Amino acid sequence: MDWDVVVVGAGPAGCFTAMQIANSGFKVLIIEEHNQIGFPIQCSGLVSPRVMELANLDDSIIINNLKGLRVLSPLGAQLQVDCSRVLALAIDRAIFDQKLCEKAINAGAILQKGLKATAAQSIPGGYQVTAVDKNDKNYTLNTKILIGADGVESNVAAWLGLKHDNLKAVMYSADVELAYSDANLVSVFLGQNFAPGWFGWIIPLDLKTCRVGIGYALINSGYSPRHHFQQLIDCYPQIFKGYKIIRNTGGTVPLGLMPKIYAPSAMLVGDAASQTKPISGGGIYMGLRASQICANVAMQALNDNDFSEKKMSIYQTLWENETKEETDSAMKLRQSYLKLKDKDIESVIRFLNKPKYKKLISKYADIDYPSILAHKLFDYNPWLKVALKIAKI
Ligand SMILES: Cc1cc2nc3c(=O)[nH]c(=O)nc-3n(C[C@H](O)[C@H](O)[C@H](O)COP(=O)(O)OP(=O)(O)OC[C@H]3O[C@@H](n4cnc5c(N)ncnc54)[C@H](O)[C@@H]3O)c2cc1C
Repeated sequence: MDWDVVVVGAGPAGCFTAMQIANSGFKVLIIEEHNQIGFPIQCSGLVSPRVMELANLDDSIIINNLKGLRVLSPLGAQLQVDCSRVLALAIDRAIFDQKLCEKAINAGAILQKGLKATAAQSIPGGYQVTAVDKNDKNYTLNTKILIGADGVESNVAAWLGLKHDNLKAVMYSADVELAYSDANLVSVFLGQNFAPGWFGWIIPLDLKTCRVGIGYALINSGYSPRHHFQQLIDCYPQIFKGYKIIRNTGGTVPLGLMPKIYAPSAMLVGDAASQTKPISGGGIYMGLRASQICANVAMQALNDNDFSEKKMSIYQTLWENETKEETDSAMKLRQSYLKLKDKDIESVIRFLNKPKYKKLISKYADIDYPSILAHKLFDYNPWLKVALKIAKI
């Protein structure tokens, strides 16, 4: 075999997985179809402080610290919660990817940019990956373990027979020039008309630049994501007065667990394995955490020279032990949210807009683990759960 591990995709999940395996002295190759790591950016770069600790990166990629949240109902109600702690960070996503990639290379992984994997087939003792470079030159790479970290449209998943039609959130996001009154406050816009099943957002970078985005989580809303973005702008003319798009991006995020994320001698990680948060679509934290588990299982397999289905299945077991409860309950919440009409959203926001609930939100809101806050709210007011059941939400 040429390689112990071939990782397809140099996004955060691929690089972080590669770094850990290479750190233990294994021969790791990362192939990335683009020539520049971190580009094109398909992200709004909002992460919890936990991500920086996990990735062990310095603060230089942090653009802004966010300490508050304002949720707006389409019918006028608002809920604003200010926290004394940092709730989330706006980061430079391209540099984040580049730094993780640098770490993988420093650990000993080899990076091949501008090389696109085009097929993978099982061979005795592993996989044979076929790849093509920008000059149409073909490469054949033999590896003991193949790791698909190739994002939401993962071809590796398809080649391994693991492709699953998960629900997806479709998003449009833009960096905009916009006068915004509170540089530490994230705004979330709810409304089934402009953001069916999802939400819109403003993430301030400073007092005059923000990331504004919108998504929908229905199979097909009938309109383009850009159309939904315009609807959001039109709904809030005062907030978006004078806005100017600097650059824009978009893409999809898979939601919910995948039935199978491994095969003999192979694993999927990150968006390729649908390792995202169903409430927000954030995939960076989940992808990094999954990378740690994936890398550990790969290293055990290499040490034991055992690449069997059973050995690789440990990855899925460990991943589900850690996340199934949170992900499934978030998916249920998502389903419940789909049933809400705008007038229901208005009622929920008005109901929560009381000092006692705002205090709980301020104390327990966690963008990686929203169920913590949900449990605290239900513990505080058990009738809330009953009311939701009666309303069949
Ligand atoms: C509009 C938008 C906003 C978002 N905002 C946030 C946010 O604020 N916070 C957050 O946590 N998450 C956010 N996400 C989700 C986040 O971007 C993803 O979860 C994250 O990028 C997943 O990382 P990954 O490494 O799994 O995959 P990716 O980052 O998609 O990386 C996959 C890599 O594989 C490469 N590749 C693909 N196919 C091949 C091939 N055949 N051969 C070689 N290379 C290949 C790609 O070029 C790419 O570099 C957002 C997503 C979108 C679309």
